[in-house]
Amino acid sequence: MKRTIRFESEIGPAGALLASMKAVQQALAGSDGLSADQMAERLQEWQTLVSNLAGGVKRGAELATLYEVTQVINSSLDLTETLNLVMDLLIHLTGAERGCLMLLDEDGVLQIRAARQFELGSVDSADLELSHTVVQQSVENAQPVLTTNAQVDPRFSAQESVIGYNLRSIACVPLHVRGRVIGALYLDNRMKEGVFCEADLPMLKAFANHAAVAIENARLYTVTDQALAARVEELTTLQQVDRELNASLDLERVLELTLSWALRATRAEEGVLCILDKEGAVQTVATSNGGGAPALPEPETVKMALRASDPIVVGRLRILVPVRFEGQVIGLLDLRNNGGLLFRPEHAQLAGRLADHAAAAIENARLYEKVRQANEAKTEFVSFVAHELRTPMTSIRGYADMLAREMVGNLNPRQLQFVHIINGNVTRMQILVSDLQDISRIETGKMRFEVVPTPLSVSLQNALEVTQAQIDARSQKLTVEVPEDLPRVRADPTRLTQVLINLLGNANKYTPERGSIHVRVWANGSCVHCAVSDTGIGISPEDQAKLFTKFFRSENAAVREMPGTGLGLCIVKSLVELQGGEIQVESQLGEGTTFEFTVPAVAEA
Ligand code: ADP
Repeated sequence: MKRTIRFESEIGPAGALLASMKAVQQALAGSDGLSADQMAERLQEWQTLVSNLAGGVKRGAELATLYEVTQVINSSLDLTETLNLVMDLLIHLTGAERGCLMLLDEDGVLQIRAARQFELGSVDSADLELSHTVVQQSVENAQPVLTTNAQVDPRFSAQESVIGYNLRSIACVPLHVRGRVIGALYLDNRMKEGVFCEADLPMLKAFANHAAVAIENARLYTVTDQALAARVEELTTLQQVDRELNASLDLERVLELTLSWALRATRAEEGVLCILDKEGAVQTVATSNGGGAPALPEPETVKMALRASDPIVVGRLRILVPVRFEGQVIGLLDLRNNGGLLFRPEHAQLAGRLADHAAAAIENARLYEKVRQANEAKTEFVSFVAHELRTPMTSIRGYADMLAREMVGNLNPRQLQFVHIINGNVTRMQILVSDLQDISRIETGKMRFEVVPTPLSVSLQNALEVTQAQIDARSQKLTVEVPEDLPRVRADPTRLTQVLINLLGNANKYTPERGSIHVRVWANGSCVHCAVSDTGIGISPEDQAKLFTKFFRSENAAVREMPGTGLGLCIVKSLVELQGGEIQVESQLGEGTTFEFTVPAVAEA
C-alpha cells in the first residue's frame, strides 16, 4: 500500500495504475504466480487508483466549468443573463435537476432572480416547489446546507415541502458580499438521492462567490446607470424650467410655471404655491386647478414649513417645500397626493431643488411687480401735479401779460424787464408741464393720435414758424429741401409738428451763433424721411448711447447753459414710433448732428 502511495505521489494515479498492472503481469508470467490474497490486494489497489483517476477527471471538469463561469461573469453586465448561465452550468456540472438563485430585497425578503431546470431552461419561479426551510437555514446561519436525501434526513423529513414536493437531494449555499449575506444558491434533485456530497461544497461556494460578485457589480452598474439617467433627466428639466422662468417677469406666470413643473416632477396630484410676506402671511397664490380647490395651507402648516430648513414629507401624501431666497423664506410649495402615489424623500429633494431654481425668478418677478407698481404710482403723481400746475400757471401768465401791456398802469423799464423774466420762466414751466404730461400719457398708453393723410411739408412749415424767431436770434442759416411730389404721410399733423419743433429747437439750441441748420425731406419706399442736420456741438458716442432716455442731458457745458428738461427726445422717439416710424442719430463731436426720422407714406394712386 505504502508503495502505491509513493508511486502515485511520484507518477500520478495513471502511472501508478500502469506500474501496478505491469507488476501483476510479470508475477503471473513468472513461476511464483500470485496468491488469491495478493490478487485481492492488487484489485483493491487498482480500485482506489481508478477512483482517484475519476476524481481527478471530475476536478478537471469542475475547474473548466469554474473558468467558464468566470468568463461569463466578466463578459456580461446583464445580471439576468449572467445568473441564468451560472445556474445552467451548475445544474450541468452537479447533476442537479433544478436550480435557483435568490436575492434578499430591501425588506429582507428572498426573491427568486433565476430559476432553471435541467434541459428546460427557465422555469416560472412561482412554480418552483423548493424547501424554504433549507434556504432559510442557510441564509440565517450564513452556512451551506446539504442533504443527500431529505426524505430520510431527520432535519427535514417532517417538513411539509419535503413531503409534499417529494424532495430528495438538496444543496443550498449562501451568497456573500463583503461579509454580508445577499442571497442563496439552491440546487435539488427530486428523483435521485445522493446527488450532492460534502466534496461538492467547495466548488459550490466558489460558484456562489463568483455569482455574488457578479450580482454586486451588475447592481452597482444598474444603480449608477439609473442614477446617472435620473440626474441627466433632472438637469434637463431644471434647464428647461430656468429657460421658461427667465423668459417671464410676470409673477403670476412664474408661480404657475413653477407649480406645474413641481407637479410634473413629483407626480403630485395637486398643489399650491404661495408667496409669503415677512410675517408668513400668504400674499399671492397659484393653485394647480386655477383658484378652486385645493385649499390653501393651514397657518400651522405654514409655520412648520417656515421653521424647516429643508423640504419635508408629511405622511407620505404631502410635500412641503419652503422657497428660500438669500436665506429668507419667500414662499411655500405645498404638493399633495390624495391616496395615489406615495411620496418618497427623493420627491421632496427634487421639489426642493426645483424651488431653489425658481426662487430667484420668483423674487425677480416680485421685485419687478413692485417696481412696476411704484412706476405707475409715480406716473400718476406726475400727471396729477402737471395737471394741477396748469391753472396757476395760466393765471400767472395772464397777470404778467396784463402788467407787460401796462393795462394796470405804467411800468418803469426795470419793472418791465422783471415782468419779461416772469413771462420767460412761465413759458419754460409750461413746456416742462406739457412734456411731463406727454410722458405720463405715453407711459400709461393714453397718448391719443388723430392719424390722417397729411402733407409733412405743412407740419414742417408750422414748426418753422414757431422756431424761426429763435433761429434768427442766433443768426443761424436755415436751409430747407422738400421735393414737390412728396407723397402725403399717415400721421397726426399736430404731433408731427411737435416732433419737428423739438428737433429744430435742439438744432438751434446746440448750434453756435451763425451756424447752419439744414432740413431735408425725401420719399423712399413706403416711408417719407426727414433729416434735421446742424453744424453744432455734436454728441459724444457715450452720450449717443443714452440719448432718447428720460431726463438725459449731456454734461457738456454748452448744453448745460441752454434751458432744457431732457424730456424732448424721449417724447420725440415715442411719438415717431407710435405712428409707425423710426428715428436715428448720427453725430460727430464738435462738428454737428443729424436726426433722421421716418413716417409711413400714403400710397397715392
Ligand atoms: P433738452 O434739449 O431739453 O436737454 P432733449 O431730450 O431734447 O432735452 O435732448 C437731450 C440731450 O441730447 C440734450 O440735453 C443734449 O445733450 C443732446 N442733444 C439733443 N439734440 C442735440 C443736438 N442737435 N446737438 C447736440 N446735442 C443734442
